[in-house]
Amino acid sequence: MLLTITNTNWPATDLGYLLHKNPARVQSFALSFGQAHVFYPEASGERCTAALLLDVDPVGLVRNRRGPAGGGGTLEQYVNDRPYVASSFLSVAIAQVFSSALAGRSEDRPELAETALSLEANLSVLPCRGGQGFLRRLFEPLGYEVVAKGCPLDEKFPEWGESVYFTVELRGRVRLRELLTHLYVLVPVLDNEKHYWVGDEEVEKLLRHGAGWLADHPEKEAIAYRYLKYRRSLAREALARIVTEESPDPDVAQEIHDNEEEAVERPLSLNEQRVRAVLAALQSSGAKRVIDLGCGEGKLLQALLGCRNLDEIVGMDVSHRSLEIAGERLHLDRLPTRQRERIRLIQGSLTYRDKRLAGFDAATVIEVIEHLEPVRLAAFERVLFEFARPATVILTTPNVEYNVKFENLPAQRFRHKDHRFEWARREFEAWAGSVGERFGYAVRFLNVGPEDPSVGAPTQMGVFTLV
Ligand code: SAH
Repeated sequence: MLLTITNTNWPATDLGYLLHKNPARVQSFALSFGQAHVFYPEASGERCTAALLLDVDPVGLVRNRRGPAGGGGTLEQYVNDRPYVASSFLSVAIAQVFSSALAGRSEDRPELAETALSLEANLSVLPCRGGQGFLRRLFEPLGYEVVAKGCPLDEKFPEWGESVYFTVELRGRVRLRELLTHLYVLVPVLDNEKHYWVGDEEVEKLLRHGAGWLADHPEKEAIAYRYLKYRRSLAREALARIVTEESPDPDVAQEIHDNEEEAVERPLSLNEQRVRAVLAALQSSGAKRVIDLGCGEGKLLQALLGCRNLDEIVGMDVSHRSLEIAGERLHLDRLPTRQRERIRLIQGSLTYRDKRLAGFDAATVIEVIEHLEPVRLAAFERVLFEFARPATVILTTPNVEYNVKFENLPAQRFRHKDHRFEWARREFEAWAGSVGERFGYAVRFLNVGPEDPSVGAPTQMGVFTLV
């Protein structure tokens, strides 16, 4: 059984850090059902492939009574597909051999673990008893491009037809932990013959590894039933507990809390902190319909899509290219219908009055105003606060005072060459206060990022509420 994972994000050998396996070495691990070997058939800056080879011991399986369920006669116990196909053994191997990567932990490179990479997974033989259609329905909603090649029962006798086995390639822009998690859950779903006893523990595993994606998966019922080996009562329990943000289950809430704590401890990029701060302000405003103005490449939109209590999400930007990238990042062409209906991208400029901007509960304007010519600010103010007039506006901009803390930023320079200005805290507060007064909004100010006693935080945020 062979699984390969390829990274093509330069420097591709970062894959070694994420998997905690040195590309220059072959490593072997003893597992209860055989041996796992990890090695890298290729490792260059452009392309790096890690291979996980499982050498399943069918005789050992029989001795340990871990043969295929329903066993059949003695011969079937010894002669079966277990050594060759991707099955629940692969999940066990992923969990043991790549445990840190599966959990998204990387002590050396935490930011790398949180970065979506161009990844490919190749499964040499994947049994798929629901056919290719089912395979696609499982992986495509998660944003993967699926290439599947059926294997004939016997190449010499084409009239015998196809087998249930496929060689499968999955390609996507995802975090490594997401790819591993999807394989961990979905490979056993495709393979009906599980070697393990299914009980409450498997419900917990399914919920833990399904966190963040299973609740919205169009095939979640099929996934739960098959993962839990058609034990209806367990599947019902799992489905009832798949959490939505509105009604967190206490156990899962605890887990989310743990993850948050872990996240707090590891350094977050400023961008991530900004997204979190915006989400928090948005949640407390109770908004259901949100427009992200100057959405750029859609980082915030991606997070908004994950907020289940938002019914309508619109991203607007003046740049076609940015919108194109945002569309790709969000996998708009592959989203399940229900998700697809929640989100739209529109092209437009913030300095022209635009009817499409009206009717939203909240607008976010994240790191955008500093890109506007100062003389265009007055037009922007009217477009947003007078005509679009959402109940809440969440706006962020750099705090120029903090620039002295960036070691690689020369004095008197802005953080980005397209910035037309960067404001000190007093300047931003004065501008926001005057906008609030003129258009009837109350403003409160928040800091995003590490706060310095003398120069403040890197990002300043104003939350405007219609009074
Ligand atoms: N909000 C995004 C992008 C910030 S970069 C983020 O936080 O990642 C600033 C964005 O503002 C760019 O995508 C740029 O195209 C957009 N922008 C600049 N001037 C604009 C205008 N007049 N109208 C709409 N978008 C504008």
